[in-house]
Amino acid sequence: MSTLNRLTMLGSGVLGAQVAWHSAFKGKTVVIYDIAEEALERSKIALDGYAVIYQSDLGASEADIDAARQRLTYTTDLASAVADADLVIEAVPEVPSIKSGLYTSLAPLLPERTIVATNTSTLLPSDFAADTGRPEKFLTLHFANQIWKMNLAEIMAHEGTSRDAITQAVEFAIEIGMVPIPLRKEQNGYVLNSWFVPLLNAAQTLVTKGIATPEDIDRTYMMSGANLGPMGWFDVVGMTTAYNVMSYWGHKNDDADMLSNAEYVKEHFVDKGHLGLLSGKGYYEYPNPAYQRPDFLAVPEIGAAPEIAAIVGSASAVLH
Ligand code: NAD
Repeated sequence: MSTLNRLTMLGSGVLGAQVAWHSAFKGKTVVIYDIAEEALERSKIALDGYAVIYQSDLGASEADIDAARQRLTYTTDLASAVADADLVIEAVPEVPSIKSGLYTSLAPLLPERTIVATNTSTLLPSDFAADTGRPEKFLTLHFANQIWKMNLAEIMAHEGTSRDAITQAVEFAIEIGMVPIPLRKEQNGYVLNSWFVPLLNAAQTLVTKGIATPEDIDRTYMMSGANLGPMGWFDVVGMTTAYNVMSYWGHKNDDADMLSNAEYVKEHFVDKGHLGLLSGKGYYEYPNPAYQRPDFLAVPEIGAAPEIAAIVGSASAVLH
């Protein structure tokens, strides 16, 4: 059994709220920290939504939900948030300077025993180990979106992480019902995001270049039996994180398509406050997004042919 019973979550956005809620549901005592009260208020609304999902999908009782709520507290004060933490998991924006700044502020506030993990999607523990002031107790513990059904935790260390910290993190992951996925080496994107980020980027390129509609991209993907396509995933991931990842890696790799995709997501979604599922709108509108309609993958009526042909024709017309 791990000694990690008191968790502090840094960042209460899309992933922070899910990991905090899930850990509390599994019996951990959780403090949720964010920089702004508004962010904490938004996360409480998200948690209400997860409570409903845990009842409907996992069979949680009212008593289970109440108990999870009792184990959660919220604060915007970093010092008190971590004063008694066994484990701190950082889930602030995928922007290296924000993460570094937070680790630097955090370092002098932590109890000696505290293990620190980052939930970064694409960065490395060695990028931040020095900032934490406790490299031997720092690693990644990467949770996937929709933690209640994508129950994996990717565990990645840097060369200075102690074996004890790694073991504690693995035990914590198992205690909250995760399948641990140990990484043998540092890898930007772990296992999951090594293909998931390129998938979303490739799909976004089709939209950015006007090649296919988001719905048709998702139809094509969902024909294989998946209940969500890449454009639907943009909404679940959240447009802020999608933008941060594509912008950072677009610049880093001098990838013109990725940078255009980042700009597209910023202009069409982030700047308009259409941040994806949790905001009620992204590529789809929620609740009841189009991809959940029973006829989303159906063969259309024959009468729809001219409308579909017109889409194809708009490209061939250029050739005439
Ligand atoms: P988000 O934008 O939804 O939430 C980030 C939260 O951090 C916000 O509530 C914001 O107010 C807060 N924040 C900003 N600066 C802060 C600071 N200095 N201190 C404390 N809080 C601060 O982002 P997200 O999607 O939850 O992503 C968070 C991290 O988790 C990122 O590293 C991301 O790559 C990773 N992640 C995201 C997903 C996903 O599907 N969204 C999946 C796995 C991992």
